[in-house]
Amino acid sequence: MQLKHTPQEIVERKALTINAAKTCQPVGAMYAALGVHNCMSHSHGSQGCCSYHRSSLTRHYNEPIMATSSSFSEGASVFGGASNLNEAIRNIFTLYDPDIIAVHTTCLSEVIGDDLVQIIKNQYKDGLIPEGKLVLHTNTPSFKGSHVTGFSNMTTSFISYLTKSTGKTNDTVNVIPSFIEPSDMSEIKYMLSEMGIKYIMLPDTSDVVNGPMDGKFRMYPKGGTTKEQIETMGDSKLSIGLGVIGASDAPKLLNSKFKVPMEIMDLPIGITATDQFITKMHSLCGIPVPETLELERGQLLDVMMDKNQYTSGKTVSIVGDPDLVLGMCQFCKENDMKIIHVITGTPTPKKWEERLREICGPDTYIKTGKGADMFLLHQLIKNEKPDLIFGNTYAKEIALDEDIPLIRFGYPIYDRIGQQYMPVMGYRGGMRLLCKVLDAILDRQDRDSNDEEFEFIM
Ligand code: SF4
Repeated sequence: MQLKHTPQEIVERKALTINAAKTCQPVGAMYAALGVHNCMSHSHGSQGCCSYHRSSLTRHYNEPIMATSSSFSEGASVFGGASNLNEAIRNIFTLYDPDIIAVHTTCLSEVIGDDLVQIIKNQYKDGLIPEGKLVLHTNTPSFKGSHVTGFSNMTTSFISYLTKSTGKTNDTVNVIPSFIEPSDMSEIKYMLSEMGIKYIMLPDTSDVVNGPMDGKFRMYPKGGTTKEQIETMGDSKLSIGLGVIGASDAPKLLNSKFKVPMEIMDLPIGITATDQFITKMHSLCGIPVPETLELERGQLLDVMMDKNQYTSGKTVSIVGDPDLVLGMCQFCKENDMKIIHVITGTPTPKKWEERLREICGPDTYIKTGKGADMFLLHQLIKNEKPDLIFGNTYAKEIALDEDIPLIRFGYPIYDRIGQQYMPVMGYRGGMRLLCKVLDAILDRQDRDSNDEEFEFIM
């Protein structure tokens, strides 16, 4: 009964968030920078912000997350952080020798109004940035958006600073994902490779935050999109954004700057969205769908049909990041589940909400952005109890209090492991996700069965 004081009655709150259903922009910016090879993520603000962002990512990935800070003191807070950043840049190149330093702002440097464009320009002019090295930045004020916004902003900045065009189009496809797990990035790359499609994924945190234990510490793990790859993205024949909220801005920039055609799609969660992804790639690239993917699709469909009696009619509450939430809603609907609540703390445009409504149907309670927090979700659940909750670790207290199974997905997951290694996207990921859901449903049925109803074959 950790949340025993949550009242059932819902009253309108104008200026109070209780247990936010999102985290701050720099967490996303830091994660995106980890997906670029030999890049050091730098937090331009106070030490505490950087420590929080690092520790959050470290707990979720169970890996030591590297990042540096401008370490603002009272002086920087009053007079601006330019001299802190100059000293930091000098030290980082001397001590850690990255190819790129990716600077993101924090609330404090945003409120001070530090002009990062000018500060970085002066650093080049004053010779603080060694030959062949690069410093870039993105603005990540946490008083708007969320970690998904920060992820998108940092991804877009890599393109803005680095990408060029030779004017000659090649046969590569730019693949830009929203804030997703490295395991899902790997699964998307696997499907593209199976189809024989040449791609550049930006960012790509696989082999960075899910690397093996081999007894060696690497400041810069072997994965990540390379600087050279990002430079050539202006020559690609197509950009695919996977996730409307977290992966639209970068393809749009590539389109407006270099005329690279673009498509924004849903994340390939579940059979419908994965079919759409594969079909689109098939039609855009003129490449046949390989047997391996057809086999995986057939297997997923088989499990869906075999176990539909258990998923059908189950009611669910879903909380998380918008692109993942939309995919999860689609997955639940195709398995005949009924979505009763959807909460995402990230602000979303009206068009996105209309699309979510189309998927969920007219009876689902949907709240996004301001006021969409874990407290509200708990109140909603007190009023209408679902069979399952889909959400991150912070939904655990609600799940325990209300005695409802929790399917963990999204960010952050601090109390379980596996999300960084095993995907939920693509057909194989869809199978894993469905098995997780079925395990939760069947475990609950076993627990709650009377002796005479207890089954061995389900
Ligand atoms: S001050 Fe802003 S950037 Fe820093 S941890 Fe708080 S919300 Fe995040």
